[in-house]
Amino acid sequence: MTPSTTASGSTPLLQVDKVTKNFRGRPALQEVSLAVAAGETLGLVGESGSGKSTLARLALGLLAPDAGTVRFAGQDPYRLRGRTGRSLRARLQFVPQHPRGSLNPALRAGEAVAFALRLHGTPRRERPEAVAALFRQVGLEPGLARRFPRELSGGQLQRVAVARALATGPDLVVCDEPTSALDRTVQARLLDLLTGLQESTGVAYLFISHDLAVVRHLAHRVLVLRRGRVLEEGPAAELWEAPAHPYTRALLEAATGGPATP
Ligand code: ADP
Ligand code: MG
Repeated sequence: MTPSTTASGSTPLLQVDKVTKNFRGRPALQEVSLAVAAGETLGLVGESGSGKSTLARLALGLLAPDAGTVRFAGQDPYRLRGRTGRSLRARLQFVPQHPRGSLNPALRAGEAVAFALRLHGTPRRERPEAVAALFRQVGLEPGLARRFPRELSGGQLQRVAVARALATGPDLVVCDEPTSALDRTVQARLLDLLTGLQESTGVAYLFISHDLAVVRHLAHRVLVLRRGRVLEEGPAAELWEAPAHPYTRALLEAATGGPATP
């Protein structure tokens, strides 16, 4: 197991090296290492409380590690400041679990996306057309841009969140349980959308879920987190066929509703 290298062996976009993070003296993450290469999807799975969201926040530079290092495109995302910081930040985006909580209820869906475009430096006059293009790209009828979050379904809101993340032309999008609040069919369609967007834009994902079946759908490699530690890591297909650890097998059984290995 080589947790700090990518499948292709190229320089990773995101590199997390032996990161430890404690909350009130209790470890949420212990010596966790991972890497995400350009254009790939790393699936991060683990039961609730295993440290997935903490890792997402560290990767996004919203939290600083107690020990170890986080590098995005060679820089510490927690220290991104000023103009270079802004341009690098644009390359690192987030799709949260609950879009209703992350979208301003007073802003129309199109305004939320336009705001991201503004940060990206898109001139005002070009924004309406860019918003419409992004809405189409995520499979939303552009007329929905006029609606407020309360007037949209969970699936539509999550597509708005994806559009907002894509607005800045990111290299990496951290998706923290992006489909957990959606029902199965809506979930599957969103996963297909993310896969298609990766094919067309080359964006990389750090895709987090407690559900191995969801991760398997789009991850190239999977990393299993348990109680803040990396338990195992490997190509998605291999992990699915032959999980090394009983914990991973249990996650698989929970995902498929039956034993993982016949
Ligand atoms: P997951 O996303 O896998 O469910 P989290 O990263 O949210 O796990 O949480 C990992 C552990 O860290 C949990 O025990 C959680 O209670 C704790 N934790 C996370 N964030 C905080 C915080 N801001 N303050 C205190 N404890 C936290
Ligand atoms: Mg979480």
